[in-house]
Amino acid sequence: MKHTCPLCASAADSFLKSVKHHFFLCPGCKGIFREPKHFLNPVEEKKRYLHHRNDMEDTGYYKFVLPIIDQVKQHIPERGSGLDFGCGHRPVLSNYLEREGYKLSVFDPIFQNDTSVLNQTYDFIVCCEVIEHFFHPSEEFVKLFNILKPQGKLICKTHLFEKEIDFDKWYYKNDPSHVFIYQHETMNWIKNNYRIKDVKIDDRVITFTK
Ligand SMILES: [Zn+2]
Repeated sequence: MKHTCPLCASAADSFLKSVKHHFFLCPGCKGIFREPKHFLNPVEEKKRYLHHRNDMEDTGYYKFVLPIIDQVKQHIPERGSGLDFGCGHRPVLSNYLEREGYKLSVFDPIFQNDTSVLNQTYDFIVCCEVIEHFFHPSEEFVKLFNILKPQGKLICKTHLFEKEIDFDKWYYKNDPSHVFIYQHETMNWIKNNYRIKDVKIDDRVITFTK
């Protein structure tokens, strides 16, 4: 049975099916997405995020977010305005960026749900380990690019799937809250489809220029 890709709406075939996981691979954007019936319910999801975030903080959160901070410092002048989208229950990344002289707003659909911040525009938006949790990536990317100023940067951190990875054994797909996985081609598809000027991929950091 085919499933409609939540990013580009192509009909996708089954890619990996096991007891716990069922993923589809999209022929249009090359995204790999989880079958909706395996999605966590909101209570499980919140529990999972609290756990996930604590894990990251234990294992050296600063090191983990440093590539994002570097990208911001490289492209955005001090006092630039930014949004930490999907900041989690403790907006640690935005605190680091504020210390660097930036003005930050935060948003998280579960933990910081003040939607008024989505009615402003920003010089940059950071999404640290967020975009793989998008149930509706097309709507989310439209929203993010809409609130980015011209020449603004959307800086995302996620683990891209590459051909050399054995998906079946890959740790990243095992997190049940990871519902949409990207490949290099998916990032190019996003750039082309949303008429974004440029995308640069540096390992796990993806930087879009509007
Ligand atoms: Zn697709």
